[in-house]
Amino acid sequence: MQQGLFSDADIPGGLQAARVLVDGLNDMVLDYGIPAGMEGVTRGSRVEVPLRNRSTTGTVLQVSTPEFGGRLKPLLRLIHDEPVVSPALMDLAEWAARYYAVPVEQMIRCIVPEPVRRERHEEKVRKVIVLQQWPDDDTLNKLNKRAPRQAGILRYLHASETKREPLADLGGSSALTPCRALEKAGYVRIEEEQVHRDPAAGESFAPSAPLTLNAEQENALKAVLTACTTHSPKPLVMQGVTGSGKTEVYLQAAQHVLDEGKGVLILVPEISLTPQTMARFKSRFAALEGAVAILHSAMSDGERFDEWHAIHRGRARIAIGPRSAVFAPVQNLGLIIVDEEHDSSYKQENSPRYHGRDLAVLRAKMEGATVVLGSATPSLETMYNVQTGKYDCVRLDHRADGQRLPLTRVLDMRSEPKDKRNLGILSERLRVAIDDRLREGQQVILLLNRRGFARALQCPDCGYTADCPDCAVPMTFHATENRLICHICGHREVVPKRCPECHSAGILLEGYGTQKVEMVLRRCFPQARLQRVDADVTARKNALRDILEDFRAHRTDILLGTQMISKGLDFPGVTLVGVLNADLGLSVPDPRAAERTFQLLTQVAGRAGRGELDGEVIIQTYNPQADAIQFARRHDTDGFAEAELALRQQMQFPPYCHMAVLTVRAEQEELAQLSVGTLYRHLQQALPPQVLMSEPLPAPIAKAYGKFRYQITFRSPSARVVADICARVIAEQHFGEEIAVSLDIDAYSFL
Ligand code: ADP
Ligand code: ZN
Ligand code: ZN
Repeated sequence: MQQGLFSDADIPGGLQAARVLVDGLNDMVLDYGIPAGMEGVTRGSRVEVPLRNRSTTGTVLQVSTPEFGGRLKPLLRLIHDEPVVSPALMDLAEWAARYYAVPVEQMIRCIVPEPVRRERHEEKVRKVIVLQQWPDDDTLNKLNKRAPRQAGILRYLHASETKREPLADLGGSSALTPCRALEKAGYVRIEEEQVHRDPAAGESFAPSAPLTLNAEQENALKAVLTACTTHSPKPLVMQGVTGSGKTEVYLQAAQHVLDEGKGVLILVPEISLTPQTMARFKSRFAALEGAVAILHSAMSDGERFDEWHAIHRGRARIAIGPRSAVFAPVQNLGLIIVDEEHDSSYKQENSPRYHGRDLAVLRAKMEGATVVLGSATPSLETMYNVQTGKYDCVRLDHRADGQRLPLTRVLDMRSEPKDKRNLGILSERLRVAIDDRLREGQQVILLLNRRGFARALQCPDCGYTADCPDCAVPMTFHATENRLICHICGHREVVPKRCPECHSAGILLEGYGTQKVEMVLRRCFPQARLQRVDADVTARKNALRDILEDFRAHRTDILLGTQMISKGLDFPGVTLVGVLNADLGLSVPDPRAAERTFQLLTQVAGRAGRGELDGEVIIQTYNPQADAIQFARRHDTDGFAEAELALRQQMQFPPYCHMAVLTVRAEQEELAQLSVGTLYRHLQQALPPQVLMSEPLPAPIAKAYGKFRYQITFRSPSARVVADICARVIAEQHFGEEIAVSLDIDAYSFL
């Protein structure tokens, strides 16, 4: 799609041309002349360019001698004197674009965040869209057909807890037109809101001094620092049991790298779930005013703009953030730390579907930096890379505080008497254990998986289930709103009194949510101070932080929560962790189901006994012999990896291959089916025999957001072969707008 633009405004011969990737046009590349006075233009510069009769912005891919004898339109303006995207990040963008089969522009978009590309630094107010009125089903259906973007915005607002969302989160300036239309129709109101720009406003961090490292930590620190002085070091895996003091090693390694005058990038799983890790970095470097920049998804445009520029200018030399921070413009990068490298939040689940850890490894290689992958339960991909010698590994096998790992018991729920009062939620053993801890004045964490326990509506007479009309999955009952809610699209419905199919009045809510468990627990332990943590409770800003502070200060006794509470928390008063249903997710159609369960159980078990008292973990399960449960019970990461890797090799699953998923979506089922069939036939011709391809099948979630979904799954020794060939075959079909095709390379979700 390259073309030169001729212009009447001649550029004197001998001058150079810039090849520019124009913003927002899916890889349209145009050549422009570099006029006198703009010699600073180089690869990675952001520039303003003429396009038809307006001006727009873009990123310079390359500077060269013009092919068209200097008859190119000139660039209008160089936006910053320094290139905005460093050569290394340009390389990363181009590599990732090819690997994940997306336009380069999409990767550049990740590197240069929206507020920076728009360059709106003066902006102190932002537009917020507020839901005014929710249309009836009929109107909504019509809107869906006529103006899907508008319908999507309404749904998004409707699903939002506050019913108001910043325009930036609805798609930025391109969402303004549909929002205006919605405003005219009376469905939304557009408001302006003041922007606060300091993401850590109102929080203070007391400086913390480095701890004296124990022998294992010394050894780990030495391994990191040795890598830092090596030319093109191997990635270093820091496999340390929960509580072994990995974070302290990260902190001291970061300090050394800073002292050398280099920058540090720290990736953490979702920040809202790991506030303690973030706070520990802020505290340790509190003396270095402004040295630590925090990047996270809940930041306003202004904050993002300020933090980004602080890093880009080199004022902030440590950047901390979730997966998207892998693109932070840290200057003179010396060290990248990926904390909890196995965490699934590193994988982006919409386009571009990159993996933050994998790009961190690549970026470190490109910039000659050291990358440290830390975890108590490294992913099997990473364990495999250690086995084959691609990565180095340093281990911490003991807790830093000298505590033993907690004793873990597995409790077979099949042999529990079905006690009506406890509704099968709480075994007698766990009930007694909780009771004991409470009497001793100790604290308890109880974990419940939402997926395993969501309450759906089911008719015991005819088997009817209340499914979302758009997504064909069961809706979940929410007591606070007294509504059934679809967890995919946010669709809400009133709970019927009688079965809509057979009119039976015996229609039941099946399964349990956190709210139901909370009720049972309150009945069993009326004296306990209990706090529930789930997405409903934590929707309010800072709610999670407040809840965790209360628990830390022992103003609550029992914390009951979903996976959220399994991550990165460190509570000395907790002596008992109960897992209410460990079988969660073992039956999900996903090659990593066992790995995820093992990681979750091991992580959550690491939450017990972090103080002076010994900890105990009780795992309730209907499947006590499962590897994921037995190895987690013994905290045996190596044992699990060995057993599971053997199985993966036998099945030809990752890490022994790359898995990719191609998904076709269309409103009409036949269209989706037809299109996926066409792609399948062409791919059969085009793919080499080493690539295993599934038949086209309806996705496990067969319909979502009103669209039918069909999938093809690939297993291949090379991800690139699948990416390149699929991209070509998809492009050749010239599908219309009614068919959406997406490709997920190294897929982690198969729903
Ligand atoms: P991990 O990150 O491996 O889970 P943490 O860094 O959270 O482990 O450490 C667990 C606990 O041990 C923390 O309370 C931490 O302050 C403490 N700790 C870490 N290193 C030391 C040390 N060298 N001496 C004493 N306590 C330590
Ligand atoms: Zn019925
Ligand atoms: Zn839905």
